[in-house]
Amino acid sequence: MVETLSIAVIGAPGVGKTSIIRQFIYNDFSEAYTPTRTRYVYRPSVILNGNMYELKILDVPPISSFPSSSSQEWLDLRCRGVRNANAYILVYDICCVESFEYVKMIRQQIVEHRESSNSEVPILVVGNKRDLQRQRFMPRRAVSVLVKKTWKCGYVECSAKFNWHVVLLFKELLGIAVARGMRQNHTSIRLQGALQRNRCAIM
Ligand code: GDP
Ligand code: MG
Repeated sequence: MVETLSIAVIGAPGVGKTSIIRQFIYNDFSEAYTPTRTRYVYRPSVILNGNMYELKILDVPPISSFPSSSSQEWLDLRCRGVRNANAYILVYDICCVESFEYVKMIRQQIVEHRESSNSEVPILVVGNKRDLQRQRFMPRRAVSVLVKKTWKCGYVECSAKFNWHVVLLFKELLGIAVARGMRQNHTSIRLQGALQRNRCAIM
């Protein structure tokens, strides 16, 4: 049985969420900025350690906060599926402190607003635009310690532009999710994932 893992990618506008996803799936990068206005779902398949997984990657457009209830999620089309994602990638720009503050707020809200049984959901914080690291606002080590030790989240830095650590970050997240036994998906979701499979990558 192929497992489906839904991953919500959240972050402030312009940090590179769409670029990371498109680099991962299509090996494609565009310098031009096209703001993501509606929620977009990508369905690649990946093989990790000999096992196949269907990923449902949600490219979440800017949201002011993590939906605090199911009704809020259903009223706002941009957040569909966000509360029940199996894992989160929270992206910030290593040169933009406000984008880090946003990630900090969303991480806190995920911990507070998810159902208690799901509170151990894997969260990977990603510092993007590593190629611009001379302009970074905080040393990598300091952020990494804060995120890993205090927030208890994974931490990876990448550059969507140069495809540095993009596969690694998905591998890292999937590894954490699999280790925590993410097997809560309904059968119909698994089937849907298999039918709409459009890409496969070996990681
Ligand atoms: P989103 O709003 O978070 O989805 O951000 P986008 O993926 O649309 O990227 C916003 C802008 O940042 C675009 O102009 C991209 O070309 C640029 N960008 C994305 N990733 C990188 C990166 O790793 N390095 C650099 N230098 N620019 C990037
Ligand atoms: Mg986008």
